[in-house]
Amino acid sequence: MLFRDISPVLADPAAFRVLTDALVAGLPAGTDAVVGIEARGFILGAAVAYAAGLGLATVRKPGKLPVVRHRVSYSLEYGTATLELPEDTIRSGERVVIVDDVLATGGTVAATQELVEHAGGVVAGVSVILELAALKARDRLPGLDITALLTA
Ligand code: AMP
Repeated sequence: MLFRDISPVLADPAAFRVLTDALVAGLPAGTDAVVGIEARGFILGAAVAYAAGLGLATVRKPGKLPVVRHRVSYSLEYGTATLELPEDTIRSGERVVIVDDVLATGGTVAATQELVEHAGGVVAGVSVILELAALKARDRLPGLDITALLTA
């Protein structure tokens, strides 16, 4: 699978702005907060949250947090991965939008949804720059409102 590197897009001021604005425009009405997935989801999520006047919750790779609110492990093609949610970032009943760079199999978003729901939040939407359609993430994420700016 070709790695889709968004670094050059982030380094281009006009492209970064256009993408951020498009992600903000796609936020569902009533979004309370943004959730960014480490690491590129932090960059995009922070820009979207700032532009939309919302807060940002960060979903971390393991071993970074002093206090973990909840942890979830999920399978990858080869092996497993773990994501962790810090304490006091998502409030009960909050409607959040998950932001990341690339949606591939959907495993990362599914794990993030589990973290959000464990904290009492609701996933109002998922916003990514690029969806790799052949990997059929939507089949794995039924019922989620997914916005992809680009599809490959
Ligand atoms: P998945 O859980 O399979 O949907 O993978 C999505 C996560 O892995 C995102 O956080 C992406 O940053 C990263 N990712 C997976 N596949 C790619 C790819 N082909 N190019 C860039 N990033 C990818």
